[in-house]
Amino acid sequence: MDLKQTKTYIIGNWKMNPASEADAEEMFDEVEDEVYKIDDEKVEVVICPPFVFLSNFDSDGKVKLGAQDIFWENSGAFTGEISADMLRRLGVRYAIIGHSERRQYLGETDEMVNLKIKAALAGKVRPILCIGETLEERQRGDTGEIIVNQVEKALTEIPEKDLIGNLVIAYEPIWAIGSGAVPSPDEVMSIGLLIKKILAKIYGNRVAAESVPILYGGSVNRDNAFDLVDKTGLSGLLIGGASLKPREFVEIVRRFAK
Ligand code: PEP
Repeated sequence: MDLKQTKTYIIGNWKMNPASEADAEEMFDEVEDEVYKIDDEKVEVVICPPFVFLSNFDSDGKVKLGAQDIFWENSGAFTGEISADMLRRLGVRYAIIGHSERRQYLGETDEMVNLKIKAALAGKVRPILCIGETLEERQRGDTGEIIVNQVEKALTEIPEKDLIGNLVIAYEPIWAIGSGAVPSPDEVMSIGLLIKKILAKIYGNRVAAESVPILYGGSVNRDNAFDLVDKTGLSGLLIGGASLKPREFVEIVRRFAK
């Protein structure tokens, strides 16, 4: 089964950075200036800043806006939450869902992830589903089982037609996030193929498997970025730390725009 999609997705997750609006604007402008020079038929560049900065950026420009989370209801008594409707009205096209930091620090469960994906799809915001195993799970040889379980639960009762052209999946081994450790391209490729197989099994055909972009995330930098796509057949990268350094981030983007 071929993993390759036509576009490469380069998605920056700024997490809880930077501290100031001025710094956020400077970082975003630096990325945007560069992205205007490249062929955006080849690369989809998405920046996911903290919610509070989303309205500072041009949502109609070449750099697409993403949120780092979304809530599963559209309005009401849900203190602190942000809905798909609110995001879409700001021009936000994507939302990261189920990032391991939210699962770890905020107790986000697979069931919550499933509700959030449904809400994003209903609200016309593309979900970027994050999945991945811990170091202990990897050492026990449980990676495959964890991935199967996370994908199946995240996609429970979501019709295939809703996913096509919308869902993005990011494989982010937790032990690789922010650690400098990175799995080999062969390992990343085999997880990519596993995710495609799970999609084919859930939906009983290859349409979702062939259309859902699968990305890698975890300690991506200017030196390893190209191989993590080129040698794995994946469709792009979710980048944390290196997305906070606009010069390095655009260097990565440029590499895929050739
Ligand atoms: C992430 O947390 O989504 C991530 C990929 O982080 P980093 O690139 O810093 O490992």
